Amino acid sequence: MKKIGTTILLLVCFLGFSQQKTIDQKVNALLKQMTLEEKIGQLNQYTGNNQATGPITINPNKEAEIKKGLIGSMLNVLGTKYTRQYQELAMQSRLKIPLLFGQDVVHGYKTTFPLPLAEAASWDLEAMELSARIAAVEASASGIHWTFAPMVDISRDPRWGRVMEGAGEDTYLGSRIAYARVKGFQGNLGDVNSVMACVKHFAAYGAAVGGRDYNSVDMSERMLWETYLPPFKAALDAGAATFMNSFNDINGIPATANKYLQRDILKGKWNFQGFIVSDWGSIGEMVNHGYSKDNKEAALQAITAGSDMDMESNAYRYHLAELVKENKVPIALIDDAVKRILRKKFELGLFDNPYKYSNPEREQAALNNPEHRKAARDIAAKSIVLLKNEKNILPLSKDTKTIAFIGPLVKEHKQNMGFWAVELPELDYDKQVVSQWEGVQNKASSSTKLLYAKGCEIEEDNKDGFAEAIAVANQADVVILSIGERADMSGEAKSRSNIHLPGVQEELVKAIQATGKPVVVLINAGRPLVFNWTADNVPAIAYTWWLGSEAGNAIADVLFGDYNPSGKLPMSFPREEGQIPIYYNHFNTGRPAPNETAFNYVSAYTDLKNSPRFPFGFGLSYTTFEYSDLKLSKNKIKNTEKIEVSLNVKNSGKVAGEEVVQLYLRDKVGSVVRPIIELKDFQKIKLNAGETKTIKFIIDKEKVSFYNAALQWIAEPGDFDLMIGSSSSDIRLKTTFELVK
Ligand code: BGC
Repeated sequence: MKKIGTTILLLVCFLGFSQQKTIDQKVNALLKQMTLEEKIGQLNQYTGNNQATGPITINPNKEAEIKKGLIGSMLNVLGTKYTRQYQELAMQSRLKIPLLFGQDVVHGYKTTFPLPLAEAASWDLEAMELSARIAAVEASASGIHWTFAPMVDISRDPRWGRVMEGAGEDTYLGSRIAYARVKGFQGNLGDVNSVMACVKHFAAYGAAVGGRDYNSVDMSERMLWETYLPPFKAALDAGAATFMNSFNDINGIPATANKYLQRDILKGKWNFQGFIVSDWGSIGEMVNHGYSKDNKEAALQAITAGSDMDMESNAYRYHLAELVKENKVPIALIDDAVKRILRKKFELGLFDNPYKYSNPEREQAALNNPEHRKAARDIAAKSIVLLKNEKNILPLSKDTKTIAFIGPLVKEHKQNMGFWAVELPELDYDKQVVSQWEGVQNKASSSTKLLYAKGCEIEEDNKDGFAEAIAVANQADVVILSIGERADMSGEAKSRSNIHLPGVQEELVKAIQATGKPVVVLINAGRPLVFNWTADNVPAIAYTWWLGSEAGNAIADVLFGDYNPSGKLPMSFPREEGQIPIYYNHFNTGRPAPNETAFNYVSAYTDLKNSPRFPFGFGLSYTTFEYSDLKLSKNKIKNTEKIEVSLNVKNSGKVAGEEVVQLYLRDKVGSVVRPIIELKDFQKIKLNAGETKTIKFIIDKEKVSFYNAALQWIAEPGDFDLMIGSSSSDIRLKTTFELVK
C-alpha cells in the first residue's frame, strides 16, 4: 500500500515537473522569436474603459498597439463581450500572444461580499476562502484572469483609508487570512474558474506616516520582518502567482525601485517564480518622489530592482528599448521579466485557447447563481461584531409591535457594497443590493409596524430632520438607528484625520436616546470609528461595516436572532485619534501607567487612558461561554518538542453560538523586548446551548520564535505566559511554560 502511494506521489511530482518543463521550453521557444519591442510589450499594462456591457469603444491608439504586440495586459476590461473583443485584437498580432486581463476583484465580483476588513472580523477562514472562491468563479467567467487581491498590508492606523481592504492589525491573523484568500482566488490555477491572485502592496504600505495614504514608511528591519512581511510570505506559501509593489518609499527607497524587497527577499530568499506588477503609475511617480530624474531613469531603476510589469506609467513602453541599446539594462533582465509573465499565460492555458475564460453561457450562470447570494449572506452575518448588548435588548422579537428604523443609511442600497466593489454597468443596484430597510421588513412579522425617518445626512450639520426622527421614535417599542460613514469615506486616498462619527449623527443618537426608548445602534464603516458618547450611553451597538449585496438580510438575521453574532474585532478601536497608532501587541516600557490594567507598563497620556475603546479580538454573543480545564501536556520543552494545549469551552447560555477561542503568548524576557501579548493561534467553534467541547492547540518552535537583533528567526530559552481568551483583553485562562536548551 505504502509503495503504491509512493509511486503515485512520484508520478504526480514527475508530471508536475514535466509540465513545468514543457512550459519552460515553450516559453523559451517563444522568447527566441520575439523582437525587443515585443518583449517590452509583454511588460506593459494599460487600462481599458471599465465596461462590461454596452457599446465597445477601444481607444484607437491602444487598439493599434495591441495589434502590434506592444501590450501584455489590460486592467479594467469587464465582461466576456469586452474581453473577447480585446483578445481578438491580440490575436491579430504577429506572435498572437494573448492578453492578460486584471481587475480589482477585492470583495466579490457581481455578488459583493463584506469588505475584507469586515470579513476578517469573522475569523472564519473557510468562509473567507469561500468568498474569494466565489469571486473567482464569477470574475473568471467574465474573462478576467487575474485579481489585484488580496491586500495583506498590516495596519495599526485607522486614519488610513485602506484599512478597509486588509485584515487588520495583527500579523498572525493577517497571515492566516492571506493564505485562505489566495487559496480561494486561485483554486487550481489553470482551471477555468480560477484567477491569479496578486498579493499587495509589497511592502509596508499600511505603515504610512500619519496614516496618510501613499506616505513614506520609516521602519526598522526587525519590525519589517516580524510584523509586516509574514502575511506576504503566507500568501506566497499558498501559491500566489503574482505580487504588486507599492506607492510608498520605505526607509528612503520607493518600494517600486526597491531591490532589497523585490530581488533579494521576494525573488531571492523566498524564491518567488511569478511576476511583480507595479502599482498604478508607481514607476512614473518615482519622479515625484525625487528618486528618479525622469521616466527613463524610473524605468531603469524599476526593472533593475525587479518590477516586471509596468501598470500605466508608460515608462517601460517608451524607455526600456533605449536603455537596453545603451547597455544600461542587460537583456537578461528583460528576458527574465518576460518569461515570468509568459509562464503564467501558459499556465492559465491561454495559448491553447485565448478565449478560455470568456464564455457568455458560463458568465450568465456564474453571475446568477443563488448559492453565491446565500454564501454572501452567511459571511455578512458572520462579519458583524456585537459591541454592546445591555439588558439583552437584542435579539429583537419578530413580533415587536412597532419598530422605528432611523438614520441616513437605512434605505441605502449601493452604499452597502462599500469601496472597491466592482461596479458592473447597467446593473440596478436598488434590486441587486438588499437595503437594511428591506432586510428588516423581510424578517419582521406581518403585524409589525415599521416606521422610518432619515434624521440627518451623514456629513451635513443640518438637524432639521431630528424632530421627525424623535416623533417616530416616540411611537415605537424599539428604535434601530443606522449611522456611520459613507462608503466612499474609507478606501484608497480616503485617509482622515478625524474618525469620529461624521456630521451630527452622534447628536442624533443623543436625541433618540433621550426619548427613553430602547435603542440599537448599527455602525456602518470601513474602518474603526470613534463614538464615545454612543458607546457609553446606548445599550446595544453592532458594528456592521459594509456587508455587500446581502447586507440588509444579514443585519436582520443578527437583529432578530436567526444568526447569533460571532464577529471579533480585527483592529483595536481607539478612544480618540490621539492614541493612534494603537495596537494590542505593544511593548512595555519601564514605567507603570496609573489606573491601567491590561495596558500596564506603557507610556501614558495625562488626558486619556491608553487602553482602546474596544480591544483587538473583542465581540459579544447572545450566549455566554465558560472556559475551563486548561492543561498542557508538558510545561518544560526543548525547541524540538511540542506542547499539546487543551481546554474546555462550554456554551453556558440558552442559545447556540460560535466562539473564537484565542491563544496568546508572552515571551517574558527576550534578547529584544517582546510584546506584552501576541496572538499565536485561534479556533472558531460552534456550540449548542449547554454543550462543552475540548479544544486543542499545539505549541511548537514556530510559535515561540521571533527575529532577534541580528534578524535571525530563533526560539530563545526562557519562560512564557500562555493565555486563552475571548479577546486580547479578556483572558480567561492562564498558565506558564518554559523553553529549555
Ligand atoms: C491601487 C492598487 C490597485 C490599482 C489598480 C492602485 O491605485 O493602489 O491596489 O490594484 O490601483 O486599480
